[in-house]
Amino acid sequence: MEHQKPPKHLFKVMTPENWEKSHGSDSLFLTQDDDAFIHFSTEEQVERIINKFFGNEKKIVLVVVDTGKLPGKLVFEANPGGSSKYYHLYGGSIPWASVVEERIVERKIAPPGSFDEGKSLKIFQTGERVLREKARPLRLDEIKSAEVQDLIGKMQRTMRAAPGVGLAAPQIGYSIQLAVIEDRPEYHSRWTEGQLQKWQRRPIPFHVIINPTLTKIGEEQTEFFEGCLSVPSIMGLVPRAASVRVDCLNEKGEPIVINATGWYARILQHEIDHLNGTLFWDRADAKSLMTLDNFLKHWKDVPVEEAKRSLSLKPGIDSGAY
Ligand code: ZN
Repeated sequence: MEHQKPPKHLFKVMTPENWEKSHGSDSLFLTQDDDAFIHFSTEEQVERIINKFFGNEKKIVLVVVDTGKLPGKLVFEANPGGSSKYYHLYGGSIPWASVVEERIVERKIAPPGSFDEGKSLKIFQTGERVLREKARPLRLDEIKSAEVQDLIGKMQRTMRAAPGVGLAAPQIGYSIQLAVIEDRPEYHSRWTEGQLQKWQRRPIPFHVIINPTLTKIGEEQTEFFEGCLSVPSIMGLVPRAASVRVDCLNEKGEPIVINATGWYARILQHEIDHLNGTLFWDRADAKSLMTLDNFLKHWKDVPVEEAKRSLSLKPGIDSGAY
């Protein structure tokens, strides 16, 4: 256990309901999550805690407490099963006398400031926490909000500027279950007809998927090189289901069903992976990872099974597709 002098102030995040319940008592109302010990956040942790545990609250109360006035024992430690460390208060409470400030926070979908100046959003790169988190679903009223509608437009612009065939909200720093997809005919001009056929790649019009669930159809898999805007200039061989069904909402919040095969099925799997904190290279054999330049120089025309032999990968999946 680490001994460390606690900061002068720690933060307690509360719902407005629990905040209300605290009035008329000597100390703040706590839920059973705080039965064993009381959880606190440091200033640096508070935004992440809010996004992770209070993601669906439109309004929250941020209480700043003076650690010198807290009864009980503060310990800096990891939660059971976790690795990040937090301040936990054992045998104590949060008396009103320790509260130095209360802030009502009207929540937006994501904190402001993640926009680049100009038209495109900043694309978050591998190593950012948000790319490893499970994104939260959007409520219907959120989908219809000006904020989300505006975000969809910005994601479309960002995806086209990149350019890419898909962009998931975590890639621009928003931990919400939203992705945009578009495979434009002009992207196909750099590839031969044979390559496009091998990949079963056809143009896909712009559309939005929200709160998707993915079902693999059948056993057939295909394995092809894939890249990602959040892992720039790296390609890897990724096996994927050849055919999938996606149940989701569209940008109006209407339920839709997508049945997809070929490259489109691959794009859907890649984007839905992003909403669950998975990156394409998690699914690739590390031996297949290479720079985009070298992929274009040495491998783009090599049949996948031959590439696998040359890269000493296990001969693989029975796709029958190439
Ligand atoms: Zn990606």
